[in-house]
Order: sequence, then structure tokens, then C-alpha cells
Amino acid sequence: MRVCSLASGSSGNAVFIESGTTSLLIDAGLPSRVLCERLSHVGALPDALSGILITHEHHDHIAGAVAMAQQYNLPLIADIRTLSAILVTIPPEQKSRMPRTRSEAVGTTWQIGSLTITSFPIPHDAISPCGYLISSEAWRVCLVTDCGSITEGILAHMRQANLVIVEANHDRERLLRGPYPNTLKHRILSPKGHLANDQTAEAIYCLDDSPRWIWLTHLSKINNTPDLARDAVSKRIGERRMRQIRLEITSPGLGPSWDSAQVFEMRY
Ligand SMILES: [Zn+2]
Ligand SMILES: [Zn+2]
Repeated sequence: MRVCSLASGSSGNAVFIESGTTSLLIDAGLPSRVLCERLSHVGALPDALSGILITHEHHDHIAGAVAMAQQYNLPLIADIRTLSAILVTIPPEQKSRMPRTRSEAVGTTWQIGSLTITSFPIPHDAISPCGYLISSEAWRVCLVTDCGSITEGILAHMRQANLVIVEANHDRERLLRGPYPNTLKHRILSPKGHLANDQTAEAIYCLDDSPRWIWLTHLSKINNTPDLARDAVSKRIGERRMRQIRLEITSPGLGPSWDSAQVFEMRY
């Protein structure tokens, strides 16, 4: 199982996941042309994808989804409410070539090729936002973004994963002192907004101490830095001596990547 972050943050989000001959994009928040370039950098072809899995309908997660689905005849896969919110934005002149869709209700488990996919609800101000737990043989990846608060249900899915990709959107102090208008600050800080570094750190602290790779994702350019996010999480997990956690930060560009065939070589 191979996972590559293609884009992360408010400028656009996308993750590539592959197992054998099955591969998916999770979110497609950049123009289709840029996503195809990034896929080629990780040795993947858009027309070989099995589909585009969507977490929620916000622009930074779907900007290139419809164009890519139309161009390469890929299904958009999401809850029916999320699909409806995406399809309604297609201009009338393009309605004759609507993308293929596959609706899978949030809270269910289904199969795409060699990947087993479970979606679960997460609190965010979208119509039906969800996280995903994706498994292939013994390996599991859990993705949680965007998310205003951590629930027991989210933790239960994270605990099962070898690789957890979780939002660390902002440093609370930096957001409060920063340039955003108050209404936007309140939206981000609300239980249906985005995770602060300390919330993410607490969630990771609540996992058990089995070996685990953690990617902190969706960092705000204005209200966070990789160092602030890493320090907040490292400090909290240091209190429990969770030495088997390997922490990485996703960037607006390519990377990092994770390959289950190579994880035994990763020592730290
Ligand atoms: Zn969002
Ligand atoms: Zn987002």
C-alpha cells in the first residue's frame, strides 16, 4: 500500500493511495492539470485511477474534481449529499457530460478493487463531511480533515491505522492575534471548524503507543508553521513516551509519501 500527499492546505488538498492495481485520489482540490503533473511525479496516471473519493464539498477539496472526472471518465465517490452539492455547481453548458458518480453513505464500508473503505462522520461546516479508514491486507490508513473537534468515533478509527493523516490547522494564539476578521476566526475555532495544534496533539496522545506514522496536514499558511505544529504534538506525546510515532508534515506541494513495503526499514 502506497500513500502520497499531492497537496495540502487551504490552497488545495489531494492524497494519492494505491494498492496493487487499485488506486484512488482522496480529494482533488487543485486544477486537474496540476494534479495530473503531481500524479506523474509519483509514478501514477490519472486514467488508471479507480475514482476520486471526496471528504466534503469545500473548494480546496474539489477544485479539480469535476474536470478530472470528466476528462478521465472517473467516478466521483462520496455521500449522496456531498455529490449533490458538487454536481449543482456544474454550469448548464456542461450538464450534457456529467461525471460518473458512486454514492456511498457516510458511516458505511465498501470495496473498490483491493481497497476496503470505511467512511465516518466528522464535525465540520459542510453538508456531510467524513473521514476515511482505508485498508488493504494488514495495512490501514486513516484520513481526518477538515475537522472542528475530535470525537470518540474519530479516535476509534484513528487507533486502527498504521498511518494517520490528521489536520493541524492553526496555532490558537497565532490565529487569535492574526489578521483574519473575527467572524472567520470564530468559524475556524468552532466545533465545526478546523483543528488547532493542541487539539490534534491531544487526539494523538489519546491513541495507543503501537508503531504509527502520523502526517500533520492542512496547516494554515497564515496561522501556523510546521515547527509550531510539530512542537505542539511532540511535546504532548513526549509526556507519554510514545516513542514509536513517526511524525511528518504535509506541504502545499508534493510529499511526504509512505509505502507499507518499506516501513520496516524506517527506524528511529
Ligand atoms: Zn472544509
Ligand atoms: Zn479544507
